[in-house]
Amino acid sequence: MNYDWIKTRAQFDEERTAVIDPLKGTEWTFQELNIRAENLANHLQEQGVKKGDVIGIFSPNDVAVLDLLFAAFKLGAVYFPMNWRLKPNEIESVIADSGVQVIFYAKRHLSSLEGIADEKLHMDIDSSEYDELVNPKKHKPFKSVDVERDDLACLMYTSGTTALPKGVMFTYESFTSNAINSILTYRVNSNFSTVVSLPMFHVFGFNDLTIPLLMAGGKLVLHRYFEGEQFNDLMAQYKPNYLTLIPTMYYALLIAPNFNPKDFENIDFLVQGGSAPLPGVQKKFESMGLNIINGYGLTEAPLGLVNTPENSVKKPMSIGKPVMYVDICLLDEEHNEVEVGEIGELAIKGKQVTPGYWNKPDATKASFHNGYFLTGDLACIDEDGDVFIVDRKKELIITGGENVLPSEVETILSEHPLVAQCVVVGFESEKFGEVVTAGVLLTENDPDYEEKLDAHMREHLASYKVPKLYLQVTKMPLTSTSKPDKLEVKKMMNKKADQLNRD
Ligand code: ATP
Repeated sequence: MNYDWIKTRAQFDEERTAVIDPLKGTEWTFQELNIRAENLANHLQEQGVKKGDVIGIFSPNDVAVLDLLFAAFKLGAVYFPMNWRLKPNEIESVIADSGVQVIFYAKRHLSSLEGIADEKLHMDIDSSEYDELVNPKKHKPFKSVDVERDDLACLMYTSGTTALPKGVMFTYESFTSNAINSILTYRVNSNFSTVVSLPMFHVFGFNDLTIPLLMAGGKLVLHRYFEGEQFNDLMAQYKPNYLTLIPTMYYALLIAPNFNPKDFENIDFLVQGGSAPLPGVQKKFESMGLNIINGYGLTEAPLGLVNTPENSVKKPMSIGKPVMYVDICLLDEEHNEVEVGEIGELAIKGKQVTPGYWNKPDATKASFHNGYFLTGDLACIDEDGDVFIVDRKKELIITGGENVLPSEVETILSEHPLVAQCVVVGFESEKFGEVVTAGVLLTENDPDYEEKLDAHMREHLASYKVPKLYLQVTKMPLTSTSKPDKLEVKKMMNKKADQLNRD
């Protein structure tokens, strides 16, 4: 069968606007998206691209990202959205690992690829040559290639928060199951509209938001590079009803000078995920009568669990319950299920789950137990069946033999009025193995902030959990997907510790 769903959508909704690019001042209907993709599929076929070949795009959010996905699905080629925010060594490693054959690129990011992938670079998506190639007024029909549901459809690399990015495989079935799950979960329909500012090379912005929205006939406004003030302008202009962002992005909207609660009056669903919610942000939206619901997924197992708007009032930090067609369990070190209330590793089974890592059979084998994907996240389930993410397993701090969950320390720290955002990381110590330290973004400058935070923490936590060192950041360092960058905070902490030792 073929998985050419854009063609089907275009048959139902020919003239409906699908994508708006405010920067270019252009809009495309579903019909136009389908024609662009057919034109591109023809071109790629002429270039020798065939079923199973990997084709990549290195671009910020742009209609060309969609063109290439739809063309890949028509050709049976493997779609590879490339993370242009990775560091040069990471870009080099994903290009080599993926075996990508053809790369479309945005010229303004070309310098990151030069010398790494020169012979694979195919076309600038902002060129008149590209516009001419996909021009919907010059339709070159294309007959979609048949594929099997277990064929490789897409390669998406993890964001590299904790290790070099790994290529996560999506089959046609896992890719479309994820989209259908998202549609069912958020009840997405053709009246939905959103601004996509999360990067479309990442599962959260692409698989969980962009694809379900378009599959259901909704409207997508493109935002190339996230920036709070610009995003608020788009909110004022388009008044979408559905947003999916990382918690730090909601924070950026709130602190931008043009934030206006009125721009959120059409909102039906505000979703956050990717990292733990920020309680201050949650409270601010609550005061506007809006509950940001917390969803959970990872590149390997997109949209697995989600809270409801109602339950978010009572339990804002919960990721809720598994969505349809998803099973979960919590496992101890020996892979036995833990008791209710106990902490265990969250394991997920479902049709949206990856079959494994590209070129990494050992990593794939180590990531599954009894058909469940081992997420590496520690979680617990309460008596109502609501799940709470506790921490990543590898971020657990062991200090003087005692285990400390960074999330517990972060929760207490973020209750102090001086703290806007914080991350707690383990820091090497000769005496204790590791000690607890914290990077903090303050709500206001205060020369005595360390003493004040220390007093607050000692009041609420055992002394071994209290941070031994604070680092004030003026901007929270973020990963390529806008999550707090713990590795970077650790590096900054190292510098501060060195300085303290020298002084
Ligand atoms: P890498 O695997 O390269 O280290 P990454 O783990 O950030 O990168 P992603 O797939 O982008 O890769 O992120 C998934 C992770 O994000 C989850 O394993 C979990 O740790 C975290 N996460 C996702 N949603 C939530 C949430 N709602 N609350 C807390 N953490 C979350």
